[in-house]
Amino acid sequence: MRSPCVTPAIVLRSWPFGESDKIVSFLTERYGKVTGIAKGAKRSRRRFVNTLELFSLVNLRFQDRPHSALAFVYACDPIRHFKELTTSLEKIAYASYFVEITDGLAGEREENRRVFEHLREGLIFLEENGISLSFLTFFELKLLKFSGYQPTLEHCRRCKKKFPDGSQILWHFSPRDGGVLCGPCSTLRKEAVPLSSEALGALAELQEANSILPHHLALSPAILKESRPALVRFIQFQINKELKSAPFLEAFSCA
Ligand SMILES: [Zn+2]
Repeated sequence: MRSPCVTPAIVLRSWPFGESDKIVSFLTERYGKVTGIAKGAKRSRRRFVNTLELFSLVNLRFQDRPHSALAFVYACDPIRHFKELTTSLEKIAYASYFVEITDGLAGEREENRRVFEHLREGLIFLEENGISLSFLTFFELKLLKFSGYQPTLEHCRRCKKKFPDGSQILWHFSPRDGGVLCGPCSTLRKEAVPLSSEALGALAELQEANSILPHHLALSPAILKESRPALVRFIQFQINKELKSAPFLEAFSCA
């Protein structure tokens, strides 16, 4: 028998299965997304002491089963619980959104260490610094980049006209085209979201930033108002389903 795989992992989702089991979806550092069955997890909490809670960072031990898409989960040893993230509705909404969009953009069994690290660091930042729509926007842009869905912000997707072009005309963010369109090209896309040059410039700068939210990259309320719907629509288009946690975020307008 092969020895089990061992990897750090974050719990993305879990749901009951039968009388006593749970099915759990993890984002792992070494094996991409892994979904497995945790036998007895509903009844005996001894083997999985608080480690199958949403957002938990654990050391996962699992093994693939022949003829089954579900792995067998042997054990989860706690690394970090992110307890602070469950202390307010705002933090739960943010953390749930981080997890939901990462889950949607990460591939099953596609190793992507940067996406794993980005989610882990994002949850740590949220726990230690509290909620911020600027940080949320940074998290989204970097997640899109690391998972291979980076929107083109530096030139028009159709005619290649470079941004910034020195004019004050509106650009448009088009999920279907994979990035921005200049004014003339956007007339073909009625559903594209208009963006001022100021908002587009701020997003482009944030997309290229290396560290987590340097102070000068904090976005103004006006830029957030323009860019939030554009990004949520872009992510929704890539995931190809409604984001359950997105509507709750806009209720917390802390920039
Ligand atoms: Zn164009």
